[in-house]
Formats: sequence, structure tokens, C-alpha cells
Amino acid sequence: MNAVATRVQAPTLTVDLSAVAANTRRFVRTTSAAVMAVVKADGFGHGLADVARTAVDNGATWLGVTSITEGVAVRESGVDAPVLSWLNPVDADVATAAGHRIDLAVPSVRHLDAVAAAGAGARVHLQLDTGMARDGAAEAEWRALMTAARRAEAAGSVAVAGVMGHLAMATEPGHPANKRGLLSLLHGVELAEQAGLRPSVRHLAATAATLTEPATHLDMVRVGAGLVGIDPSGTTRLCPALRLTAPVVQVRRVAAGVGIGYGHTHVTDRATTLALLPVGYADGLPRTASGRAHVSVAGLRRPVVGVISMDQTVVDLGDHAVEPGEEAVVFGPGDDGEPTVGDWARWAGTIPHEIVTGIGHRVERSVR
Ligand SMILES: *Cc1c(COP(=O)(O)O)cnc(C)c1O
Repeated sequence: MNAVATRVQAPTLTVDLSAVAANTRRFVRTTSAAVMAVVKADGFGHGLADVARTAVDNGATWLGVTSITEGVAVRESGVDAPVLSWLNPVDADVATAAGHRIDLAVPSVRHLDAVAAAGAGARVHLQLDTGMARDGAAEAEWRALMTAARRAEAAGSVAVAGVMGHLAMATEPGHPANKRGLLSLLHGVELAEQAGLRPSVRHLAATAATLTEPATHLDMVRVGAGLVGIDPSGTTRLCPALRLTAPVVQVRRVAAGVGIGYGHTHVTDRATTLALLPVGYADGLPRTASGRAHVSVAGLRRPVVGVISMDQTVVDLGDHAVEPGEEAVVFGPGDDGEPTVGDWARWAGTIPHEIVTGIGHRVERSVR
């Protein structure tokens, strides 16, 4: 038996902006600091402009992005809040940033000098490595960075608006590295003030520290994951905002002993019914979740069998056959027992962030 779909609907990612709104309000209530909505990576895969607008409408007063290009996209969305871009090469397009009123993080004297040389009067945030050895100036360079910033500010070629750091261990509340990171940032602020700078926005905390380490909030918190319902600290429940659905395109009955998909990694141990979904790893379903993943079909959780391929995923329906065209829920908020983004992350051995930012471009987007 082999039935072919007559009704075709595309795999669709539905973004629930009311969840983003509720999460934003939750963070605004949680802190007396300003809330920066971090909308990098297309708003964590939820749509940069939609998340930016929703966050600002619900109390966020800053926007944060990685690149200047993303900052320009925020401006083009019509949002008028201050924007900070924090990861740019030395020869970044400073004039474009300044022209769009995008603040720039400067992680080294070289970066600072390049921003100053552009002569655009850009607003900068001194970006300090507060314990990650990733981005930001190493402590040995701080004094030189402050001195260069003060000189450029006196010359009118930059305005120093802030000092920022980032925490490596914020997902572990109370970890000593969090206290060290805070002390490190405060030390940097002290050096800046000694150099004659008056940065008004000191910021360190991202989602996890905002939820669990109030001492780190300072003047502003930078919240990305939390706005889209991901709690990296595992201490609360936020509102997930994504739902990924796909139509069953084909249903087939197979006997026991049948190998499924590439490599026959799964062989049926009984006669069963298989459903084919037109989504795969090119659409963001992690191939490494093969053998563990489930999806919801007709309200029941069903195992994915065989390897997830580029465009296709096979689901074992057992004896609960459905008609082609039935909608399968790959993940959703979990309210009806469907798998969540968190489940997929666990099955793939990764974090929810990687799932939500990895949904492919050919998946249709629907916003409510
Ligand atoms: C991505 C990012 C954030 C947001 O982190 P979340 O944990 O997603 O809230 C904050 N600050 C910096 C520098 C970032 O790169």
C-alpha cells in the first residue's frame, strides 16, 4: 500500500510574537536596569525586525547585534532605540554605523584608532575581556585602550558611551567566575574613570545572569535567548515562540525486517506504517538527532526512524496510520505534548540556541 499526498502544504515555521512580548515584559520586571534586546542572527531565527519591534513595544530600550549589517537591518525595521554592534573587523564601515546611529564596541586599541580615524564621531563601548578569552580587550591592554579612548574623545572623534564585558559561566549560578567577571568589569570602569572617561552604560549580564545573578545587572542587561523563550540557566520557564510543522507527504505500510533510509540504520522489527516528512538537515533538523528524535503526528509522539536526510525524515506511525496531508509537528511550545526545541537540542547533543538559529531558508515563515 502506498498513498501519495494530494494536498501539499509547505514545511512552516510559525513565530508567536506574543510569546516574545511576554518574555520581554518578564525581563523588564526582573530588573531595574535597562533591557537590551539582542536580535543577532535574525533575532535568534525568529525574525530580526519582528523581535526588535516586539521587544521595544514591551519595554526593551536598547537593541544589540553582532555586525553593523545587522544594525542597519534594525534601523530599517523602523525601530528608533539605541543600537549596539559588538563584533566587527578593524576596517569595519564606521561611517555607515555612525550614519545609522549604531554604537560600536571596541575590543582593542587598533579598533579604537580605526573608529576614531573614520572621523564620524561614533559612539563606542569599551569591550573588556572579563574572563572568556574570546572577545574584548585583554586586561593587559585596558589602560592603553582607556588612554586612547580619552584622547579620541577629547579630539571629538569618538564618544565613549559604555563599558561592557561578558560572562563565561553564567549558566551556573553562584559559580566563582561570575563574581570574578563582575569585579573585573568594575575594575575596568574604575580605570576608565581614572583616564577621565564617564561611561554611562556599564553592562555585563546576558539572559542567564539576568535571571540568576542580580549583582551583575549594573546599568543594562543584554537579553537574547530569554526573549525567544530559552532559559540557559534552567531555573525558570519562559514562553517558547516557535512551532515547526510539516505535511506528511507519503504513507506506506512495510513488513517486518525492512531497512529504512540511507545505510539501513533502522530495520523494522514488526510490520508497521511509515510517514514521510519533507524536512531534513538542510531545514535545520540535526542529523545527529537520528535514532532519538520524535515528532507529533495526529496528537501522538512518534519516533523518527532511519537517518534524517537532507530533505526527508521518516516517522514510524505503528498501527496509527494517517492520511497524506496530515500535519506533523516537529517541535512547538510543548503544551500539547509535542516535542520542544529543548527536546531536539537534547537529542542532538546541543543547546536550543543552535536549533532555533539553524532553521533553513526554504522553510516558510509565518508570524502571528
Ligand atoms: C549573544 C550575546 C548576548 C545575548 O546572550 P543570551 O544568553 O542569548 O541572552 C549578550 N551579549 C553578547 C556579547 C552576546 O554575544
